[in-house]
Amino acid sequence: ASPSNVPHEKIHVSVEVCLKPSSTARPGDVQKAVEQMLEKRSLSYVDGPIPVPNDDPFLMENVHRIRICDTDEWVKNHDILLFWQVKPIIHVFQLSEEGPCEELTGDGQLSSFNEWILPAKEFDGMWESLIYESGLKQRLLRYAASALLFTEKGVDPFLVSWNRIILLHGPPGTGKTSLCKALAQKLSIRFSSRYPQCQLIEVNAHSLFSKWFSESGKLVAKLFQKIQEMIEEENNLVFVLIDEVESLAAARKAALSGSEPSDSIRVVNALLTQMDKLKSSPNVIILTTSNITAAIDIAFVDRADIKAYVGPPTLQARYEILRSCLQELIRTGIISNIQGSSQYILSDYVTLKEKLKMHEIQEVQTTFHLCKQLAEAAEACEGLSGRTLRKLPFLAHAALDNPYCCDPNKLLNTMIDTAWRERSELPD
Ligand code: ADP
Repeated sequence: ASPSNVPHEKIHVSVEVCLKPSSTARPGDVQKAVEQMLEKRSLSYVDGPIPVPNDDPFLMENVHRIRICDTDEWVKNHDILLFWQVKPIIHVFQLSEEGPCEELTGDGQLSSFNEWILPAKEFDGMWESLIYESGLKQRLLRYAASALLFTEKGVDPFLVSWNRIILLHGPPGTGKTSLCKALAQKLSIRFSSRYPQCQLIEVNAHSLFSKWFSESGKLVAKLFQKIQEMIEEENNLVFVLIDEVESLAAARKAALSGSEPSDSIRVVNALLTQMDKLKSSPNVIILTTSNITAAIDIAFVDRADIKAYVGPPTLQARYEILRSCLQELIRTGIISNIQGSSQYILSDYVTLKEKLKMHEIQEVQTTFHLCKQLAEAAEACEGLSGRTLRKLPFLAHAALDNPYCCDPNKLLNTMIDTAWRERSELPD
C-alpha cells in the first residue's frame, strides 16, 4: 500500500469463531484465546478461513472454524491489510441444530410461518455463497448495524428518522429470500454480545391468502401475538421475514374489485397495523422480498427504509457462481480428470482478466484453459438467474456420456450447451 492509503486509525475486521457443537467453553474465554492467537500470528488479513492452530489444545477442543470477514473493501485494490493495521473484532458463536419449528394451526393444518433459532446450522455458509457486485451485501449489513445502533443508543425517531424495515425486490431466483436469511444469520452473530438470543420468523405472505380468509385473520393475529411476546424479552433479537409481499397488494386490489372476499383486505390491513406496532420495538428487524421489479404500489413498501434492487447476476458474478460450483465438484472428486487433484484452485475473475491482458500463460496450460472456458460458460449464461446457474453443473453432469469419469472440459462444454437450452426456454 502506498503511504497515502495507510489509514491512521486501525481498521476493524470481523473474525467469526464458530464453536463445535460439543463445546461448553465460555465465549469470553474463547474470544481471549483467539485474540492472543491472532497477535502471535502476525500475518496479513484476507477474507476466508484460517486454520485453528494445532498447538493450542483449548482452541482445538472447542473451535470448529475461524473465519476472517469484511476485508474485501480494503483488499480489492490489491492493497494488503497487514496485521498491525487491523483491530480484529472477534465474534464467538455456536450454531443451533434445532431446525425449523413449524407452527401447527388448531386443525392440524400447517400454518404459514416457520421459526428458527439463530445462528442456525441450515444457514451456515449462505452469506458467503451469495455473490453480488457493487457491495450490496456490505451495504445491507452496515444499514442494519446502524439501525440497531441508533435504537440501542435511544436516538429520538422524531428528530432523526429511520426504521428497521428492509425490502429486497427483483426477478425470481436472484437470491432475495436467501439474502434475507443470510443477513439475519450474520447479524445474529455480529450482535450476539448485545442480543444473546435471536430468532427468525419466516412468513410466506402468499400462503396467508391461499387458504380460507377467515382463518388468515386468525393466523395473522396469532403470529403477531407470538412475535410480540418474543420482543418483550429485551435480550431477544427478532427477525421477521415476509416473503412475496406483492401478494398483499394483489389481494387488496382483488378485494377492491370485488373478485375476492373482502376478508382479505382485513387481513392485509391487520398485517400492516401489526407491522406499524412492531416498528416501535428496538429489537426487531423486518425483512421483506418481492418478485415485482416495477414500482410496487402498496402502502407497505413506503414503510421500508432500505429498498434494494437485486438483479440477475452480472458476467463477473456469473463467473464467480460457476467457479464456486466447479470448485465444489473438484473438492468432492466428482470432477476427476484434473491435474493437481483436489488441491486445485481456479482463478477468480479479476485475476483471470489480468492474466489474459498480460498473456501470462506460462502456468499449467490446462488450468488456464479451464478458467477461460469457465468465462465462456459465464458469457453463455447471460440472463439466467442465480438459482438456474447453481443448478447448471448438475444438469450438465447428468447429460454427460460418461458421468463417472467426469472430464472438466467436457463438463464445461456441456454446461455451455445446457445454458443455451435454458436461455431458449426463458420467456421473452
Ligand atoms: P429469490 O428469493 O430471489 O427467488 P432465492 O433466495 O430463493 O431467490 O434463491 C434461490 C437460490 O439461488 C439460492 O439459494 C442460491 O443458491 C441461488 N442464487 C441466487 N442468486 C444468487 C447469487 N447472486 N449468488 C449465488 N447464488 C445465488
